Amino acid sequence: LTTEDYEFDQMKALFAPPGFTRARRTTTVRSVGVIGGGTAGYLTALALKRVFPDLKVTVVASSKIPVIGVGEATTPLLPKLLHSFLGLDVVEFYEKVRPTWKLGIKFVWGKPGDYYFHYPFEPGDLVESLLYEGHINGANFQGRLMDMDKTPVLELPDGTWRSCLHYVPYAYHLENRRFVAYLAEKLPEFGVETLDRTVIDAEVEGEDRIGTLICEDGDRLKYDLYIDCTGFRALLLEKLGAKFESYGTSLVTNTALTARVPHHGHIKPYTTARTMKNGWCWVIPHDDIDHLGYVHSSDFCSLEEAERELQEAFPGMQKHIGLVRFRSGRHDHFWRGNVVAIGNSYAFVEPLESTAIHVITEEINVLLNNFPVTLEERHTPRYVNRRVNHRWDQLRGFLAIHYKFNGRLDTDFWKFCRNEVDLADGQQYVDVFREMAPMGARIHRLWERPECFDDAGYDTLLLGQGVETRLMKPRYTREQWRARYEKGNAILATAKTHAQALDFFAKNPDELRRSVDLRSASGMSFPGLLEDIM
Ligand code: FAD
Repeated sequence: LTTEDYEFDQMKALFAPPGFTRARRTTTVRSVGVIGGGTAGYLTALALKRVFPDLKVTVVASSKIPVIGVGEATTPLLPKLLHSFLGLDVVEFYEKVRPTWKLGIKFVWGKPGDYYFHYPFEPGDLVESLLYEGHINGANFQGRLMDMDKTPVLELPDGTWRSCLHYVPYAYHLENRRFVAYLAEKLPEFGVETLDRTVIDAEVEGEDRIGTLICEDGDRLKYDLYIDCTGFRALLLEKLGAKFESYGTSLVTNTALTARVPHHGHIKPYTTARTMKNGWCWVIPHDDIDHLGYVHSSDFCSLEEAERELQEAFPGMQKHIGLVRFRSGRHDHFWRGNVVAIGNSYAFVEPLESTAIHVITEEINVLLNNFPVTLEERHTPRYVNRRVNHRWDQLRGFLAIHYKFNGRLDTDFWKFCRNEVDLADGQQYVDVFREMAPMGARIHRLWERPECFDDAGYDTLLLGQGVETRLMKPRYTREQWRARYEKGNAILATAKTHAQALDFFAKNPDELRRSVDLRSASGMSFPGLLEDIM
């Protein structure tokens, strides 16, 4: 033996690395039909092929049924899935999809005249920021960048520029159709087959098995396992009798009007969620234009009223207005028989916290980690259903809190929300928060990283909306805080705007690759998700 044999990398060759089991998966499933070619279908097909190269994976999608086209703001799980797990080249991705960065969400919410940034990805010094600055926006690097409308590309004293993108858990804003077209291009490279067919029915075998798909052109298709990614249609899941459970008592909106407004080159590094009379409006910045969406309830205002309000709020808005109707809730089964549903087909809540693509990546993770050895398994689907159902019920409560505590406007809609919204699972978090905050600083955080919509998320949300609590003691005195803050300000003063930073990476693609590699290597990601399971 030499001293080098005791180095970590050498030890790894002899012993299992710490952290997770590396056993290889076995399965008797030979073919998977992914029905649906939106974000959910394509990401699932690519991930399946990445983990099971011998599996026959076919995407069956209809060019006659368009994708919903509005999945645009994401969370840091998506860059990790795309670049670290699927291995998609970041430079090509930027060229073809043209993403912008999302460092968090600016909520024009809560108290009148107030706003807060929700960056549940990294909670930071919430107590100090609140006590010494009077708001939570100074709690960490991201919050302060967003408040200054800047990005993590800094100018060093010698005049050179340095990317600190790897230091920040950023997400993407994506133009959904460009993103979906890019994923479609990747399918053949990964060995996924595609079929353009409209499925009109399915034959059910036994109690809960899809046997054969019947297509409009008379074609019949058969697979061992089906992934239902048919969006709101939930074609296969509902064919097997899965029931939809509404979240209507907690989330009362059901309609979105979408539009665009020029930003004249001013690309913000965050999503905005702005309180409106009968709901709220998202502003998602793209490289060329801002996308808007007024999410509201048809029980409280007509389409004409909503459109008028949108036009008044965004005077430069373009004429074309899109309309999307939706329902909030989930099915009672995520996995039933030989069907697993991923994406809008299984569940949906409004995009107030960009949860949909985030949960799609989690659901893919659940599928890969619990991929059936045989289709006779009964306990695994039951266990998985409980877990995924619970996840969605938690999101229901998380979003309901946004409605319960928003005191900005006194319209009938907001009065109704404050008085009637059922916090459901969110109530227990509010109760715990009131006893002591931040919840994210409780003891278990010593060894766990915060998860996106967990304790730290509730903290920013509830502190941001001014909900009363007993605050923990600050770690820094006012003088210590001020000294750190001023030094931080000096660094932040060198930060570049979003447009400058995107231009910098376009001219220096190696810097972009380096940022993404460093980010993967530094573990700036969430634990337990999309681990190396091959
Ligand atoms: P879809 O995009 O609807 O795709 C369905 C696919 O199934 C299509 O390819 C269609 O051709 C196919 N299909 C359907 N029926 C058949 C059939 N019979 N035969 C063959 N093929 C069929 N998510 C976010 O993460 N961030 C956001 O900012 C966001 N904003 C949203 C705003 C609104 C108003 C709404 C309603 C949703 C938003 N979402 C957002 C959610 C977003 O829709 C999903 O994240 C994402 O687009 C996934 O959609 P999907 O793949 O499940 O379904």
